[in-house]
Amino acid sequence: MQLSMSCSARVETRMELTVEQRAMAIQSHMLTLRLELTEALRGEKYLPWANCPACGKGLKPVEIIRGFKDDPNDFTTECPKCKHRFKANLRHYIRGDYAELPFYCASQVLAQLQPLVAVSIDEFKKKHPAIYYSAVVHHGTVRNAFQKIGIPYAFDETFDWKEKVKPFLGQLPDTIIAEVAGVCAATVRKFRKGRQIAACTRADMLENAVV
Ligand SMILES: [Zn+2]
Repeated sequence: MQLSMSCSARVETRMELTVEQRAMAIQSHMLTLRLELTEALRGEKYLPWANCPACGKGLKPVEIIRGFKDDPNDFTTECPKCKHRFKANLRHYIRGDYAELPFYCASQVLAQLQPLVAVSIDEFKKKHPAIYYSAVVHHGTVRNAFQKIGIPYAFDETFDWKEKVKPFLGQLPDTIIAEVAGVCAATVRKFRKGRQIAACTRADMLENAVV
């Protein structure tokens, strides 16, 4: 009884949101799960990180991404509170410690890829870590990112994905799980259906989002 009451209260809260607030809640929830899935698959955690130097606000990852201009030559994000523009970082956590790298937006990653087509995965990580890890956050794998600019990339990363994606089936769209795991969406769909888990909908994501 208590559970159903809290559930209906939550649905009511969601109904009061504007279209923009709902879109933001879904995008934020999807990004949180996506970063969790990336961590589960790779055993490493990545977190977009920014504190506004003008007003001190700590930006959420979704705010950092929304603050980018989608301009390959402008590396700044925008503070949603005071509108100051500054560069964000990507924290790469390894065994309790972290390294801080520049964080690029999805289109800045794509704009920098072409000259790196012959670079192997290991070399990519070592010599171009900011592009590599930003590519992972936005595009799942470097190979996916190359595919988006229509260039075949010869090096692949494979993950033992089936066990690791199980908690995310039905929580994230199959297309997102597939992108992060570096497999095709039809494979994820088949795997999910085989486990009799319903597909994720926007309504589910809004319901589960922290508002
Ligand atoms: Zn600010």
